[in-house]
Amino acid sequence: MADQLEPMPTDWQRALAVVAHPDDLEYGCAAAVATWTAAGREVAYLMATRGEAGIDTLAPAEAGPVREREERAGAAVVGVTTVEFLDHADGVIEYGPALRRDIAAAIRRHRPELVVTLNFDDTWAGGAYWNTPDHRAVGRAVMDAVADAGNRWIFPDAGEPWGGVRWVAVAGSDSPTHAVDVTDGLEAGVRSLVAHRAYIEALTGDDPEKYARELVEGFARESATRFAGRPAIPFRLFNR
Ligand SMILES: [Zn+2]
Repeated sequence: MADQLEPMPTDWQRALAVVAHPDDLEYGCAAAVATWTAAGREVAYLMATRGEAGIDTLAPAEAGPVREREERAGAAVVGVTTVEFLDHADGVIEYGPALRRDIAAAIRRHRPELVVTLNFDDTWAGGAYWNTPDHRAVGRAVMDAVADAGNRWIFPDAGEPWGGVRWVAVAGSDSPTHAVDVTDGLEAGVRSLVAHRAYIEALTGDDPEKYARELVEGFARESATRFAGRPAIPFRLFNR
């Protein structure tokens, strides 16, 4: 049996998930979010972009609002009502102080104990796929902004310092350490991805319901082998 993952900490109340694009959280992570919100925890989402460059058949000016709507709908399915957008440019997000500042300001505003983001390694899936520059930029900026948020001398005009982040959990990592049992949140997680209907229909000829179910349930089943047979969403957990 593969090395077992530890259960994610549960002694927290507020989380902030920060990713590059609408849909980044819906490929699995949302099932964990559903599990958390069902247990009475608060989760807010922050998107660096509106995903306006994500639909080949739709120009950015049209795609942005569509994707924003789909993200809000997908978030609502898993109990998330606060969804914010930073309006960095989809596809060409630049890592740097401007991005760090925007994320640090959000961390100071929301005061989360847990911050969630997406794999920012060079590659995905054991090296099979090259990651996107946006995921690399945003994930790294999130890691750095968590420290920035706690330092009153960094970005001093971006709100009151918040040093209360205790963990950063990275979804989609090739080296996960922890997992969430998503037995109860899995169905909501599937429906959260289905909410990205326009995006999925442009991406694949598959029926969105079938596509989302196979993907999200597939991830959860795959991780079960490392979590005592329970359907799970894995994270790489960094302590603060
Ligand atoms: Zn993405």
